Amino acid sequence: MYPPINTSIINERRVIETFKELIEMPSPSYQEHEIGRRLVEILQGLSFETETLDYGDSFNILARKRGSIEGAASLLLSAHMDTVQPTTTAIGYSHHNGLISSTGETILGADDKSGIAEILEALTVLNETGHPHGDIEVLLTSAEEKGLQGAKHVDYDKIKSRYALVLDSSGKVGRVVLAAPTHVTYRMTVTGRAAHAGIEPEKGTNAIVAAAKIVSAIVDGRINAETTANVGVIHGGSATNIVPVEVVFDGEFRSLNPDTLNKIVDTAFDTARNIARKNQVKITIQQQRQYEGYNFDQANPFIQLISDSIARCQIAPVYIRSGGGSDANIFNQHGIMSIPISTGMQKPHTTEEHIYTADLLKGSLLVIEVIASWSAKKAESPPSFPIR
Ligand SMILES: [Zn+2]
Repeated sequence: MYPPINTSIINERRVIETFKELIEMPSPSYQEHEIGRRLVEILQGLSFETETLDYGDSFNILARKRGSIEGAASLLLSAHMDTVQPTTTAIGYSHHNGLISSTGETILGADDKSGIAEILEALTVLNETGHPHGDIEVLLTSAEEKGLQGAKHVDYDKIKSRYALVLDSSGKVGRVVLAAPTHVTYRMTVTGRAAHAGIEPEKGTNAIVAAAKIVSAIVDGRINAETTANVGVIHGGSATNIVPVEVVFDGEFRSLNPDTLNKIVDTAFDTARNIARKNQVKITIQQQRQYEGYNFDQANPFIQLISDSIARCQIAPVYIRSGGGSDANIFNQHGIMSIPISTGMQKPHTTEEHIYTADLLKGSLLVIEVIASWSAKKAESPPSFPIR
């Protein structure tokens, strides 16, 4: 066991002020420069060495601090700097009775600034108390909301930690995301033959009719407990008097089970090609694997460590298997066992987004508890995954 932490030193006013300062800096994806500069300043003030990892016109921030416990394993803490829209130049929020909420015109940005604020509060407390800990790395990513772009552009050779806590999940503090799906997106382009619809329709081949048959034949919605599909966008045709020549539609498949996913993708694409052949249209299918899934067992030692830390915060851990991805998917792909936990953010990606200040406090406490118990681990052991 490690020495008890003086948790009363968590400063509720301070974590709330940090959170408000961060949400007051709008940072939609690829516009994280202002918040990024501020975060570098704060981290350096906490004696972290910071490095800006540029890619394209954007960047991620990696910060490191050597721990005081020799031989203790390094831990990575991560959150993302960007938010979804709508954000205007000023985020509208109210703070009453322990609740900070959007006033309805914009998102709040608790996704994921609550995660950043909780990490910073935990690091500030460690700094103030001088509580012993191992090496800590902090990775703050950009453009998470644009398909995990920031995380996809990190040079992972720069990261020493083999385990990460990702503060980027919604719901009350205490939720642990054990699994997230593999995600495949696709674009199908159906090409028929144009003709005048009134004079000689028999010379045309209608791409909309063929595409409609394809869309209605391939699986959609919830396939099973761990698998989903969606056709999300469709464009096609040009005028009522022209037999349409082209339809383009975009869709996706997700599954916690990679074998199920591969089967469903293959079946859907075969079905589409067969229907295209029967309807004498051409079809091209482009697919992209957005990220790989992960699926950890509750008994995994790192999960156990997180659960014990949650319990020490007087919260009952709740385990979920998510239908959505996060930076953790990318980190796991790069051999860093990464677990998203909830920060207390509620209704993210809506203009009803809110967070209870009690959750900001509990989230900070949980980060400290995880750092403290992690620091008690004396040596780095290789991640025991993937576990399916
Ligand atoms: Zn997020």
